[in-house]
Amino acid sequence: MAVVTDPRQILDTLRKLQAIDDEIKDVRESRDGMVSNLTRLTAVLEQRDEQLGEMRGKLSEAETWYAKKASDLEIEREKLQKAKTKMSAVSRSREYVAVNRELDNIRKNIGHREDEVERLNTAIEEFRSTIESENEKVKDLRAMAEAEDANSRDALAEMDGKIEAVNVRRAKITDKLENRLVRRYEKIFKARDGVAVVAMLDSSCGGCNMNAPPRLIEAIMRGSSLIQCPYCNRFMFQETAHNADGEAVAV
Ligand SMILES: [Zn+2]
Repeated sequence: MAVVTDPRQILDTLRKLQAIDDEIKDVRESRDGMVSNLTRLTAVLEQRDEQLGEMRGKLSEAETWYAKKASDLEIEREKLQKAKTKMSAVSRSREYVAVNRELDNIRKNIGHREDEVERLNTAIEEFRSTIESENEKVKDLRAMAEAEDANSRDALAEMDGKIEAVNVRRAKITDKLENRLVRRYEKIFKARDGVAVVAMLDSSCGGCNMNAPPRLIEAIMRGSSLIQCPYCNRFMFQETAHNADGEAVAV
């Protein structure tokens, strides 16, 4: 399809482009919102999963540490047994004092180690229950994300269908414009909250409300060149109405 070259036709085509983008704007926004919601949920789930994995790793380290401490305690208890056997064979009082001191030391040691093992055991139990409850939360979150995904699927497909249908019509419009002009339009559309083509209202820009300089107002009224607002860059046009004779007049 040939591109239009007359400024009036270009502006007219740009207005059609704006109208079709207005038509689909809400659908696009809903779609983007839904997609970003799903993406966010997935990201949160991944992060929680990763944290849960780290917690399980730490628990396993703590369990290894606990096993070592428990076996140290066992060794100390065996030492106590040996010292007790030694004690029963003691005959001289000097030796008795020495073995008794050894027994005392071992008992103290056992006491410390028992405390330590118990503290460790308590901490591990608490950590296990923390992991269990986090695991439940992650499960709930996963179920929620899956439900959300399933719920969104139909709506997304419907919106995609609408967008696709409009895009077919949109392509017929953009085919009439030079590529670089379409790109300029899209840049403005993005930067200016989805409004790239505006009517001039009382000599000011219908987009940013700034007063257009007189020479621009004249050019817009003539419509013989493509005019952009010097402040917000939006394309500007003069709204026209038809009088009783069917002639176009400025409003
Ligand atoms: Zn403006």
